[in-house]
Amino acid sequence: MKKLFIAGNWKSNKTLSEAEDWIGKFNTVWENVTIVVCMPYTLLGVMKSKNLSFLCGAQDVSPFGDGAYTGEVSARQIKECTDWVIIGHSERRKYFSETDDMLQKKVEQAKSVGLKIIYCVSDDITIVPQGVDVVAYEPVWAIGTGKTDTPENANAVIVNIKTKYKIATVIYGGSVTSENVASFVSQPAIDGVLPGGASLEAEKFIQLISYASHD
Ligand code: PEP
Repeated sequence: MKKLFIAGNWKSNKTLSEAEDWIGKFNTVWENVTIVVCMPYTLLGVMKSKNLSFLCGAQDVSPFGDGAYTGEVSARQIKECTDWVIIGHSERRKYFSETDDMLQKKVEQAKSVGLKIIYCVSDDITIVPQGVDVVAYEPVWAIGTGKTDTPENANAVIVNIKTKYKIATVIYGGSVTSENVASFVSQPAIDGVLPGGASLEAEKFIQLISYASHD
């Protein structure tokens, strides 16, 4: 059986007490699944000192290094707390006008400190910078809408991404739930999923991972 990669994306959700409540309920361990929960910066420092059954990640990184960039969080600051970061999420591209050039700089910053990168693209045409670790294929119209790509089309797009960029781990994101996750991960080229909404409740996320891994 293939090793699955499942990345939850909490977006701008959860206070510290809400995150602690979630962690208290997330007590299952899966041998064959890498789980990364990408959370707000405000939580990452605290998570570092906890004994968690999953990995943590950030949802963004500054295109600059340390310095006079008010409001930004540098790759070096993130690396102190965690090993993973999402770059290029479509919400960043849409609401914060992030361009391919800026995303290239973010990737360079992340790589310079050894952060591992989950890089999001909405198709197989968008440029994937060199050095990313995982690509997430996330059609924009499927994010948070309850509409998904078909597993067959997602598989075909992911085959194209793998062929073009020689990236071993490519996952699907866009309204993934415990009900539909098995249909995606059973496709030969799909190595896992990136659920947003379905990662917010620990019980639902546990169910999703269990259905994905057939536990
Ligand atoms: C996402 O956050 O990238 C995402 C795909 O969200 P959702 O699962 O809610 O569609």
